Amino acid sequence: MLYAEIVLPLAQPTYTFSIPQGMELACGDAVLVQFGQRNYYTGIVWSISDKKPDYKRVKSVVRRLYSRPLLAAEQMRFWEWMADYYMCSLGEVMRMALPSLIKPKAQSEEEFSQEIFSTPEEHCLRLMSVWRDEPAVEQEILRIERRAPRRAEVLRDMLSFLRRGECEVPRYALPYDSALLLTMRRAGYLESVYRPREYGSVLHCPFSLPTPSPAQQRVITQIRSSQQAGTTVHLLRGITGSGKTEIYMQFIAEVVSRGGDVLFLLPEIALTSQLVERLERVFGERVTSYHSKLTAQRRTETFLRLSQSEGGEIVIGARSAIFLPLKHLQLVVVDEEHDQSYKQSDSAPRYNGRDAAVVLATMCGGHVLLGSATPSLESYANALSGKYGYSELLERYGEAVPPRIVISDTRRALKRGERRGHFNLDLKQAISARLARGEQVMLFQNRRGYSPALQCGDCGWSMRCPNCNVALTLHRNKQRMECHYCGHNEAVPSRCPNCRTTALTMMGFGTEKAEDAVRELFPENSVLRLDSDTSTSERAYNSIIGAFARGEGDVLVGTQMITKGFDFANVSLVGILNADNLMLSPDFRASERAFQLLTQVAGRAGRRERAGEVIIQTSEVENPVLGWVRSGDYEAMARCELAEREAFGYPPYSRLVALTLRYAEAPLLRHAAATLAKRLRERFGGRVFGPVEPYVNRVRGEWIVQILLKIEHRSSVAKAKNILRALLSEMAEVSEWRKIKIIVDVDPQ
Ligand code: ADP
Ligand code: ZN
Ligand code: ZN
Repeated sequence: MLYAEIVLPLAQPTYTFSIPQGMELACGDAVLVQFGQRNYYTGIVWSISDKKPDYKRVKSVVRRLYSRPLLAAEQMRFWEWMADYYMCSLGEVMRMALPSLIKPKAQSEEEFSQEIFSTPEEHCLRLMSVWRDEPAVEQEILRIERRAPRRAEVLRDMLSFLRRGECEVPRYALPYDSALLLTMRRAGYLESVYRPREYGSVLHCPFSLPTPSPAQQRVITQIRSSQQAGTTVHLLRGITGSGKTEIYMQFIAEVVSRGGDVLFLLPEIALTSQLVERLERVFGERVTSYHSKLTAQRRTETFLRLSQSEGGEIVIGARSAIFLPLKHLQLVVVDEEHDQSYKQSDSAPRYNGRDAAVVLATMCGGHVLLGSATPSLESYANALSGKYGYSELLERYGEAVPPRIVISDTRRALKRGERRGHFNLDLKQAISARLARGEQVMLFQNRRGYSPALQCGDCGWSMRCPNCNVALTLHRNKQRMECHYCGHNEAVPSRCPNCRTTALTMMGFGTEKAEDAVRELFPENSVLRLDSDTSTSERAYNSIIGAFARGEGDVLVGTQMITKGFDFANVSLVGILNADNLMLSPDFRASERAFQLLTQVAGRAGRRERAGEVIIQTSEVENPVLGWVRSGDYEAMARCELAEREAFGYPPYSRLVALTLRYAEAPLLRHAAATLAKRLRERFGGRVFGPVEPYVNRVRGEWIVQILLKIEHRSSVAKAKNILRALLSEMAEVSEWRKIKIIVDVDPQ
């Protein structure tokens, strides 16, 4: 009798099942199992042995779900690394890694839908029947050639397939972006047909790359030689507009033409469609996108298709694309590698997609390209120590000139009476001048909503969330007070419940109020706003971005969202309404973050020939971050910050493990946290900090306490984690503490 250790989307590492006689199973296979009385799950076979487990009633595997292994050996090792490193179970990794349809929740065998595992279809295009005639197409090409050269090019391609007697052309064989093909369908040239997909068709289609500039060529040569010298990871610091993507493309082309797979990670889902289009123009249908905003059906089909692919795939996605079963992974590109959103903070596994990419590529014997205008200090330190290869690309491609950066002193403006409605006079004048010339302006404000707090001018009462220890934010459009932590909202009060006065005043400043302020100051101009309130879906997001790109708005006000990767040719001024809260946040990464964010925002100004301008409003004019931003001196920032991190033992000179304890009753929670901290101190001494209550110490009705563990570089992190694991399971034996939620976050952001 054979037994299989099987991973289920549950807390234990693996579960044992017996394998019925005659059932062929291999590691990495997806199987259906019954667990408990009425739960049916998809499980992954992790290992097989003939050793009988020491308990009696071992259930057997119901059936195999998929004709081929779902995971390759590399993925299995990667899952194991992730569970171990980020201190979670394999089941939690599985929950994250597999698209939802592969692991349906079912209460009976019949209910468990297996449809998804059947072969999906392949998308092909063919000429509409009226055009399936060579002379007619030739004539049409001549007719439209001048006016619509790209359409003519597609027709020419279709014609050559037609001449070879191939009527239906797989979408992947057509190296054009989807938008173009869609207009061809709408114009009645082409139609879509679907046929059963033939897996394993090796894609042979030529592609032509843009010619690198001399500066880009130099970087390409550097990267190639560092790869040839056996360095796995290469960090590219390239300023905005230097053409990092063009450089990645050279390496992508090399990998796919020898049949390898490429994974291209982006921090933000919203950026994928732009990049997909750009890469599709060169690589055609080899390009696949994968992220959480796609339908479950699409994601599942992609996952299954890739598990059978013969290689040559280019997958573009947000961090979760790291789990796709690419069997020939040879290159991972991590663009904007410094971005915080590579870290998953809200649920296990609390992984960092960038760090995981480095591990995965090492396991697969591939390479990693990390790119950023402002690399994370962690990656930069690795470059300085020689662990990573390193190149710089500090000139913009083409004619584009870097923007001029001006610091506008809010305190001085106030003193001189030169500040109106959150705008210093010089910013206001600059906006007027740009708008008068028909140019566009972007304004960055860190907070969304109208005004972060509503306060009574008489007694000081302010409206707070009943579940979380924070003030509610006023959202004027919705006419609601809203909690940004739990979403709780209530009506805007007309008078103070405490002293009955109506003198309620708005404190602070968010994007919605900024939008109003701009309308007031520039009534002739139109304003758009981009934040998580206006871009509730990918469509809403794209429509705002699209409208601004077409010039349908003169000013775009927004949060972080406006800072990422967009190329608006007509934007010549970027204003930062308040840089203070960026620089003053009580986080050891505050200066690094402020530098990255301000540099990134500045990069949005004047991406073309026209000189752009950036105006930063602040009352912290002496803060060194501003000097570094103004001179674009990344190295000075890095030197200074790294010295400070070293002096205080922060990453990259140590590793942090953050423990968050949550529970509804404060006294029990505090007692448990104090006890855990004491036990940790017995083992780790001065490496333990806390317990402390965070600034927002109650969320969704639960109190929060944190303990931080700082493990210096020289000592073994793995050993420390083992001690921590043992202590946590000891804690879990005390019955009254079992109720307390303990979240472990390795390398918190
Ligand atoms: P980055 O990602 O570094 O900000 P991009 O890769 O987006 O820069 O390049 C900026 C612009 O310059 C893009 O519009 C890109 O098409 C163009 N560009 C860069 N390098 C080349 C090249 N070698 N040939 C043609 N266009 C290029
Ligand atoms: Zn009051
Ligand atoms: Zn709340």
